[in-house]
Amino acid sequence: MRPYVLLTPGPLTTTDSVKQTMMADWCTWDEDYNVHIVEEIRKELVALATPDTDEYTSILMQGSGTYCVEAVIGSAIKPGDKLLILSNGAYGDRMGNIAEYHGIDYDMLAFDETEQVSAEYVDDYLAHNAEITHVAVVHCETTTGILNPLERLAHIVKMYGKKFIVDAMSSFGGIPLDVHKLGIDFLISSANKCIQGVPGFGFIIARRSELMRCKGVSKSLSLDIYDQWETMEKGHGKWRFTSPTHVVRAFKQAMQELKEEGGIEARHRRYCQNHDVLVQGMRSLGFRTLLPDEVQSPVITSFLYPHDGFDFKSFYAQLKERGFVIYPGKISQADTFRIGNIGDVHPADFTRLIDAIKDCRY
Ligand SMILES: *Cc1c(COP(=O)(O)O)cnc(C)c1O
Repeated sequence: MRPYVLLTPGPLTTTDSVKQTMMADWCTWDEDYNVHIVEEIRKELVALATPDTDEYTSILMQGSGTYCVEAVIGSAIKPGDKLLILSNGAYGDRMGNIAEYHGIDYDMLAFDETEQVSAEYVDDYLAHNAEITHVAVVHCETTTGILNPLERLAHIVKMYGKKFIVDAMSSFGGIPLDVHKLGIDFLISSANKCIQGVPGFGFIIARRSELMRCKGVSKSLSLDIYDQWETMEKGHGKWRFTSPTHVVRAFKQAMQELKEEGGIEARHRRYCQNHDVLVQGMRSLGFRTLLPDEVQSPVITSFLYPHDGFDFKSFYAQLKERGFVIYPGKISQADTFRIGNIGDVHPADFTRLIDAIKDCRY
């Protein structure tokens, strides 16, 4: 069932058992689906996000991860509010693009793509800009693989009493975090990242009290998180519009497999091992990472081209022939390519990858 191993999050490599669950058709309004699958997923997602579940709820939303980011920004920021976006990559920049489309009042603090968002800078900024009501940041910037200092940022955002929106798309389920402890008001992720489902929907973990403030705010019907939540809540797992039933069923299986693996901590350890085998192997071949180890996430790793004449297309094709698909780079300031460590991939796969790379001409 695998023409190649996807090292491209995402979509990413999923287990055969996750794929297998999609071989049946599900009725959207039957209890078997909405009560036993959708509602359980919603509850389990909140439990994955924090042990203090009372103040939080979750919303599933059709589309890719960006739909959920746009849905949150478009539903949470009211006229009179002002959003501060912290960006050190394409996904942070995309939040700015969303704010532009929606005509939302915002400021952007842009940092170098190879540097973490600076907590000191944010502290200084918030001290001088009292009109800011919400702060948004990407946890793991998949553009490079850099991990932002979520705890320090959360501390500052909360110290100034601002609402906190976190794009944890590529980290939730793979890097431990606690939304309640961090004071996160909206956390966004999607089916096809660290939970290891297939693409087709995303989800939002929301503080109930903040979600209540979203009623009537959105200028988009399909991206209204309050309306989506209300229908799911009152209808016990009912989606407003056609739900991606097969994808949701696959996600339920993926959640089960996350539990069987030992939860987020265990998955995080596996991703770290994947990353270690990858980086040690690549360094032994003379490759260098774009980022210093201190700021690198275990999610995805950027490597610099090994020399000026490096032909990524040929390298990519040779690896694909050997059963591995990798990612091109996504930054302008250096020639890089990226290799993902998340999905149903294991240290042994990275040992095989390194052997395959040894075998390539580049
Ligand atoms: C994958 C990802 C997204 C969403 O991308 P889509 O293509 O819409 O699924 C957003 N932010 C981050 C950090 C991501 O890794």
